[in-house]
Amino acid sequence: MLFEKLENYGCEEAAFFCDKESGLKAIIVIHDTTLGPAFGGTRLWSYHDEEEALIDVLRLARGMSRKSSISDLDAGGGKAVIMAKPEQKTEALLRAHGRFVETFKGRFITGEDLGIGIEDAKIMRKETAHVAGISKEVGDPSPFTANGVVCGMRACARDVYGSSNLSGLRVAIQGVGHVGYNLAKDLHKEGSELIVADIREELTKRVSQEFGAMVVTLEEIYSVDCDIFAPCALGAIINDETIPKLKCKIVAGSANNQLEENRHGRILHEKGIRYAPDYVINSGGLIAVYMEIKQGSMDEIMKKVEQIEGKIERIISLSKEHNEPTHEIANRLADERISAKKKELERSKKA
Ligand code: NAD
Repeated sequence: MLFEKLENYGCEEAAFFCDKESGLKAIIVIHDTTLGPAFGGTRLWSYHDEEEALIDVLRLARGMSRKSSISDLDAGGGKAVIMAKPEQKTEALLRAHGRFVETFKGRFITGEDLGIGIEDAKIMRKETAHVAGISKEVGDPSPFTANGVVCGMRACARDVYGSSNLSGLRVAIQGVGHVGYNLAKDLHKEGSELIVADIREELTKRVSQEFGAMVVTLEEIYSVDCDIFAPCALGAIINDETIPKLKCKIVAGSANNQLEENRHGRILHEKGIRYAPDYVINSGGLIAVYMEIKQGSMDEIMKKVEQIEGKIERIISLSKEHNEPTHEIANRLADERISAKKKELERSKKA
């Protein structure tokens, strides 16, 4: 059962770690290291059971390999999940997780994700050098992710509305946490009209006060009259229930695994809604932490993040040329780069 799951997701390795003293229960999955060490944040979540945690980490790890590949990084993909409630997050638990990460000796490089912030990552760093996204220059990757989302939105807007200018476009943001807030800030500067929803009222209040965003309920965010729907909270929000509600022509946001199933990407395609594949448009944060490790300058980071616009543009163009959904095109491009490198490595081994 376990090996079948690993095989289905094409993963190289899964490791389980249990630390009695701190109560840590964690899984690290290395999906693919053909292109380089596996990058992937650590997610702390109160999963219903182990099965749910395992499926989440397998899906996320595969997404990271594709994200690294499509971003032209010499990096692979992996992910870690900690099964815990937020109140169980202690220094001892985070340090134990750091020791778990250290056992990979640099084959796995981690950082923040849902439930894990920079301060938590800094605690892990006490036990392992293989934590990224904590330097003074780069720090929180969320602003870079938001910046990349804006670039991706420009490519979509050019295709759908004939101009990459986001001024005057109505953007509905689901979730105004780390990325959603920065996205709202950037879009406000661009002159977009904002509509937001979040389960945390204090966050919607803040974007409403700072950027004049209109606040709607968690349900209304799907059906509001808007040009772009930007999911920046949870995954699987594009599904049978939500697609009929959408009034937008573009879905472009930072959330990972936005499509509940692959067929939902096809439904969007058939309805003429442009979908910016999640791991392409949300790759700004990964690019920033990767460049941090490579000691790239801020200029180099920003240049690479801005390339997201061209990548989304190319995916849309291939999608139209082949009449194939954008997420399928993205998967093909990402997987092709990994396969080509595998073949090259095999050839050099034989030579
Ligand atoms: P976050 O936890 O800071 O923000 C998520 C926000 O969504 C929170 O404010 C939360 O209250 C809200 N939320 C939860 N359920 C909701 C619902 N049903 N409706 C509306 N709002 C809801 O997380 P983040 O770092 O901003 O990341 C957001 C998404 O982007 C996640 O899916 C994450 O995996 C993805 N992502 C983040 C980064 C990054 O750099 N932080 C990079 C790539 C992908």
